[in-house]
Amino acid sequence: MVSCSNFWRSTQVNRKLVGIQDNILPHNSMPGPNQKRVYMFAEGRIDQKELLGNKGANLCEMSRLGLPVPPGFVITTTTCLDFFEAKKKMPLGLKEEYLTALAQVEKQAGKKFGDKSNPLLLSVRSGAAVSMPGMMDTVLSLGLNDEIVAALVESTGNKKWAFDCYRRLIQMYQNVVLGKSTDPYEEVIKKMKVAKGYKYDMQMSGEDWEEVVRQFKGLGEALPTDPHEQLETAIAAVFNSWFTPRAVRYREYNNIQGLLGTACNVQTMVFGNKSADSGTGVAFTRNPATGENVFFGEYLEQAQGEDVVSGVRTPHSLAFLQQHMPEAYQELDKYQRLLETHFRDMQDLEFSVEDRKLYMLQTRTGKRTAKASVQIAVDMVAEGMITEQEALLRIDPERMNYFLHPTVDTKAPKTVLGKGLPASPGAATGAVVFSPEVAETMVKGDPNVKLILVRTETTADDIHGMRAATGIVTENGGMTSHAAVVARGMGKCCVAGAHTLHVDVEGKQFITKDGTVIKEGDVITLDGATGLVLLGDVPRMPPGADACFQTLMGWAHKHSRLAVAANADSPEDARVALSYGATGIGLCRTEHMFFPPERIDIMREMILAETEKERQKALDRLFAFQKADMRAMFEVMTGKHVTIRLLDPPLHEFLPTNHHDAEALAARIGKPVETVLREISDLKEANPMLGFRGCRLTIKFPEITLMQVRAIIMAAVEARAGGAVVHPEIMIPLVATSTELEVIVPLVEAEIRKIFAESGGITVPYRLGTMVEVPRACLTAEKIAPFVSFISFGTNDLTQMTWGFSRDDVSHFLPQYLEKKVIHADPFVSIDEEGVGQLIKMTTDKMKTQKNGGSFTAGICGEHGGDPASVAFFSRAGLDYPHNQPSKRSLQKRKAKEMKSRSRVSQLHHLPSQAIHGKAVDTRIFHSRRREAKTNYLNSQLMVSLARKKSQRSHFFFSTIQSENDFCFQKGNHERALKDKDKHQLCQEQGQQN
Ligand code: PEP
Ligand code: MG
Repeated sequence: MVSCSNFWRSTQVNRKLVGIQDNILPHNSMPGPNQKRVYMFAEGRIDQKELLGNKGANLCEMSRLGLPVPPGFVITTTTCLDFFEAKKKMPLGLKEEYLTALAQVEKQAGKKFGDKSNPLLLSVRSGAAVSMPGMMDTVLSLGLNDEIVAALVESTGNKKWAFDCYRRLIQMYQNVVLGKSTDPYEEVIKKMKVAKGYKYDMQMSGEDWEEVVRQFKGLGEALPTDPHEQLETAIAAVFNSWFTPRAVRYREYNNIQGLLGTACNVQTMVFGNKSADSGTGVAFTRNPATGENVFFGEYLEQAQGEDVVSGVRTPHSLAFLQQHMPEAYQELDKYQRLLETHFRDMQDLEFSVEDRKLYMLQTRTGKRTAKASVQIAVDMVAEGMITEQEALLRIDPERMNYFLHPTVDTKAPKTVLGKGLPASPGAATGAVVFSPEVAETMVKGDPNVKLILVRTETTADDIHGMRAATGIVTENGGMTSHAAVVARGMGKCCVAGAHTLHVDVEGKQFITKDGTVIKEGDVITLDGATGLVLLGDVPRMPPGADACFQTLMGWAHKHSRLAVAANADSPEDARVALSYGATGIGLCRTEHMFFPPERIDIMREMILAETEKERQKALDRLFAFQKADMRAMFEVMTGKHVTIRLLDPPLHEFLPTNHHDAEALAARIGKPVETVLREISDLKEANPMLGFRGCRLTIKFPEITLMQVRAIIMAAVEARAGGAVVHPEIMIPLVATSTELEVIVPLVEAEIRKIFAESGGITVPYRLGTMVEVPRACLTAEKIAPFVSFISFGTNDLTQMTWGFSRDDVSHFLPQYLEKKVIHADPFVSIDEEGVGQLIKMTTDKMKTQKNGGSFTAGICGEHGGDPASVAFFSRAGLDYPHNQPSKRSLQKRKAKEMKSRSRVSQLHHLPSQAIHGKAVDTRIFHSRRREAKTNYLNSQLMVSLARKKSQRSHFFFSTIQSENDFCFQKGNHERALKDKDKHQLCQEQGQQN
């Protein structure tokens, strides 16, 4: 959890990063001439998201575009920071400034705050630079008291609406400002509805709400009667909501760092709950689940925004609005097109209709599923809205895993328990759980457990359970309900609004329409494509090829600077990698070829051999397998390089670990069990990862390496004779000193010469290289360079040996290191730029200087090839130390650009700004995740594109979290777009309408 003191440290830095250090004030001093805390909507700009928050900046932009935005103003994020610095007191001068702004709002709205005859009511909403949907607080209808509500009833004759607003204000104020539970208030409403026989709130009459208000007053602390006191305390509450546990958790989970705080949007209320001709809705300019280019949304009549999002009532599709209020719908449709064109991305809109008049309440870049993100990006390129490079930049590589996820087998027999909305695609099977806490605890106990969280609806307080679950089902709610939006953001399968299921959270069960009772622990399957809830573990199918995804991958290949090779240990893996466009095999771990059951005992015989002759006999048998595999590999990869690593792991990894298995092995290979046990015991090491492995095996048992080299090169010769174009690359692991290579390289080369001599004139081009995994190899890189034609950083071992953290045991203390911020990221996941990165840069530099260009290549093949920030670093590492050093002047220019770029992206990604200036990189990224070769390959390919393109397009910056792929453009682009196109279009359309 982020502590306040950590927050301070980081925010002081962040002030500087957003360029506002000149405005920092001691908290009790009056603001200086430059300190502006309040911006009218007409004053703010879209490039001020850090200062005005995402919501605030977008409201300003919509106002500037001339859209019907209720008048209001934004209090800056820096004010939130000052509020906490002032120990939760309003910074001096703020009140005067917002009262001046309020006077302007009153003028624009033609109403007065606190006035009895014509009262202005206000909403106060949070909104940080990165959108955090539902995580922070809002108070609506501020400005009501007994007298004003009575006057409102008098002047409008609408008692139902006036008292509905009043009861909402009391309820929200108690909860948000005074921190009280809403349960007793909900209970009053529930009882009233039962007594009256109502199903929905909207059936309540004015008298009913008046009675509810009367009962509310007996429940808690009274609402301040002074509207200005209400406003001031609500602003403070919004600032305070920055540190609610759920908001802190959300930022942690989404790795949102470096924000200043939340802005506070104070805006004239419009009322979707006012009449039958009023309502509120949420819309997306394209379908956020599929990406289809259709205007998509939901509308709830006689409701306020909270009612749609909470999912208490299931909203209608936009067709309802179109049918009942065609003018409002047409206007909305016009604005959605305008906003999408203006922002050049799919927008998520909030709107209200008050007595048939449309108001726009919010626009922001819409969250979308992985599938939709690809569909939209590809469509927008086809529509000429964005470039291929921009399309790539909008994709989060991590979420591309979706394309490799299964779907429910359409042909499998199924028992349908219920059906809801297919709110987030995919398929999920797991045991039913009803409590987020239970889900979280179970997953902590067993990370592999698969759970389906079943709720009536979800709220922001359920996030931890949703995260723990594999899939989510809710009884209520629509496609824009909390459950749907959050699940889509998390990339989890979700079925929302499954009304036929009666969910009894307390009783830990749900009952289907036909009376089937599903209890906690029962297994169900969700089909995110159809919205079906199915009984049991229903078979799933692998995903089919998605044309848009293939198009996108094509662009990734086209625009990436770094080549991406695949990790493959078998011809089958190689075939898969190739089908996804691998440029070669970057790491073939040969030990994996010895694991199949028919081979492992031969390997064990070789390890347990007591004489060289015995060992050679086993090696000869292994040779046949190795050569056959390698030949198939070369044939599959014809025309592409295949990098084969010689045997690397400690030998004991191949041997039985218990007495029983040792006995069985002894029987199988015809050796006394004592001999087997003795050998196993002899091979035991205290620190096997620092032990007898890698090239150390070659030094002791050269015959193993000779067998492998013979198998590889003979396979290449045979494949070539059969017509394949082969490029074998033999890689020597775990080298610490050039003298190891001094022994091994001549040995390998002599064997290769021998094979060529025996092969009747057929030779193959080959390269010898080494993995760089030991810090000593980095420190002595110039001595190693003469022996190799390529290097590949084994960043798993290099991290292990640089940190002195055992890769296998780090989990004993890493969580505490992360929690206490001793380190900020797991160095085995994201490259430690300061330490390990320094070694990588230094080594690359030394090697390139030594090699003086030519065909020498430097690559990486650790897990870090699957991490976006690391890939960006690898790109930089190759470019920071180019062979020909740039001039002093260009270095200075580079530095200036770096600073500029860093200030924009600092809190999110460390992007390779330097890459703009570099020459071509010859670094190859070899992904190496053992189990997820395919996935990782795709991610790496996208990432290398991103690494390059992010740096090239310095006028872009990420404004939000990864899962949103949220983009915005700088002022220049906006103003241009506004002047040239959108404004023109808007004026024209308005003209046509008039
Ligand atoms: C590495 O150390 O980064 C590597 C790729 O080798 P392995 O994970 O097989 O030790
Ligand atoms: Mg290694």
